Amino acid sequence: MILPIGQERITDFFKALVQSGRLGHAYLLFGDRGCGKKTVCNYVTHMIMCSSKSACMRCNGCLTVSSGANPDVIRISNEDKASIGVDKIREMIRDVYVRPIISDKKVIIIENAHLLTKGAQNALLKVIEEPPEYAVFFLLCDSKSGILPTVISRVNTVNIPPLGTAQLKQIVPGASDFLYHYCQGNPGRLMELRDDEELQNQRSNACRAVAGLAGDDGFDMYTYIPLFEAGRPQANTMMDLMLMFVRDVMLHKSNLDGIIINKDKINDIKAFSASVNSEKCFKVAECIQTAQRQLGKSGSLTIAAQTMFIKCREVIHD
Ligand SMILES: [Zn+2]
Repeated sequence: MILPIGQERITDFFKALVQSGRLGHAYLLFGDRGCGKKTVCNYVTHMIMCSSKSACMRCNGCLTVSSGANPDVIRISNEDKASIGVDKIREMIRDVYVRPIISDKKVIIIENAHLLTKGAQNALLKVIEEPPEYAVFFLLCDSKSGILPTVISRVNTVNIPPLGTAQLKQIVPGASDFLYHYCQGNPGRLMELRDDEELQNQRSNACRAVAGLAGDDGFDMYTYIPLFEAGRPQANTMMDLMLMFVRDVMLHKSNLDGIIINKDKINDIKAFSASVNSEKCFKVAECIQTAQRQLGKSGSLTIAAQTMFIKCREVIHD
């Protein structure tokens, strides 16, 4: 089992409840996909099932949770389906009323709870309103918006917060400064992005595009425009990456090279910084942000990118 590194505040909170016997009947753990909800929930489940209530990882309770063989832990997920229907919840409810076999608690984990249908949530509501005294429900969801207000009012909600760089480095050592920043504190996203060559290509192109804007001539925006035409998410990513480069330039101007994200592009950053003053840097960032807002509307991606490049050139060479 992986320890939920960096989520000590949450695991300590549950530890105090488990050890004092004050654990509630239903918790909704929420946070972006990849933030570590499952890891936290797994750890807390070990704690609940542990004979010393400490997630010792040695006792029968802990070992059976780790191996997936603990009969008192029920796990429900969508299993590649688009939703979790009422049948699954009804089946779980029948199981819940059977007393625990090896522990004094029964833990029910519902992954991707935001995919529960309305009918499934209403069925669930009945059992979390009047649960058997030994039952503890964990609902894991990316966002609370898919959960009925009636369900939310019956559960304790726990937000799984983003992690800092130091904690991310413990979980995924050896990634680039860029990735530690770009994953926004989400360890799952970091693991995915680590092998994402497409993103690395986009980053190189975005940095090259901004660096090229400052050149005297020879900048051909049509080299880059197809990268924006690939789709709205791709265009949005390109603009995010361009903004990060401009941010790095501003940091360099403030003698803050230590927190630059694109450290491997430092020569381009220095060159851009030498030819574009701070005021113009801010304006370039504004031009990119304006274009990014345009992406939210239904207009042409080509025109949004063209306008952005033309405005940026105007600002820089004004
Ligand atoms: Zn144990």
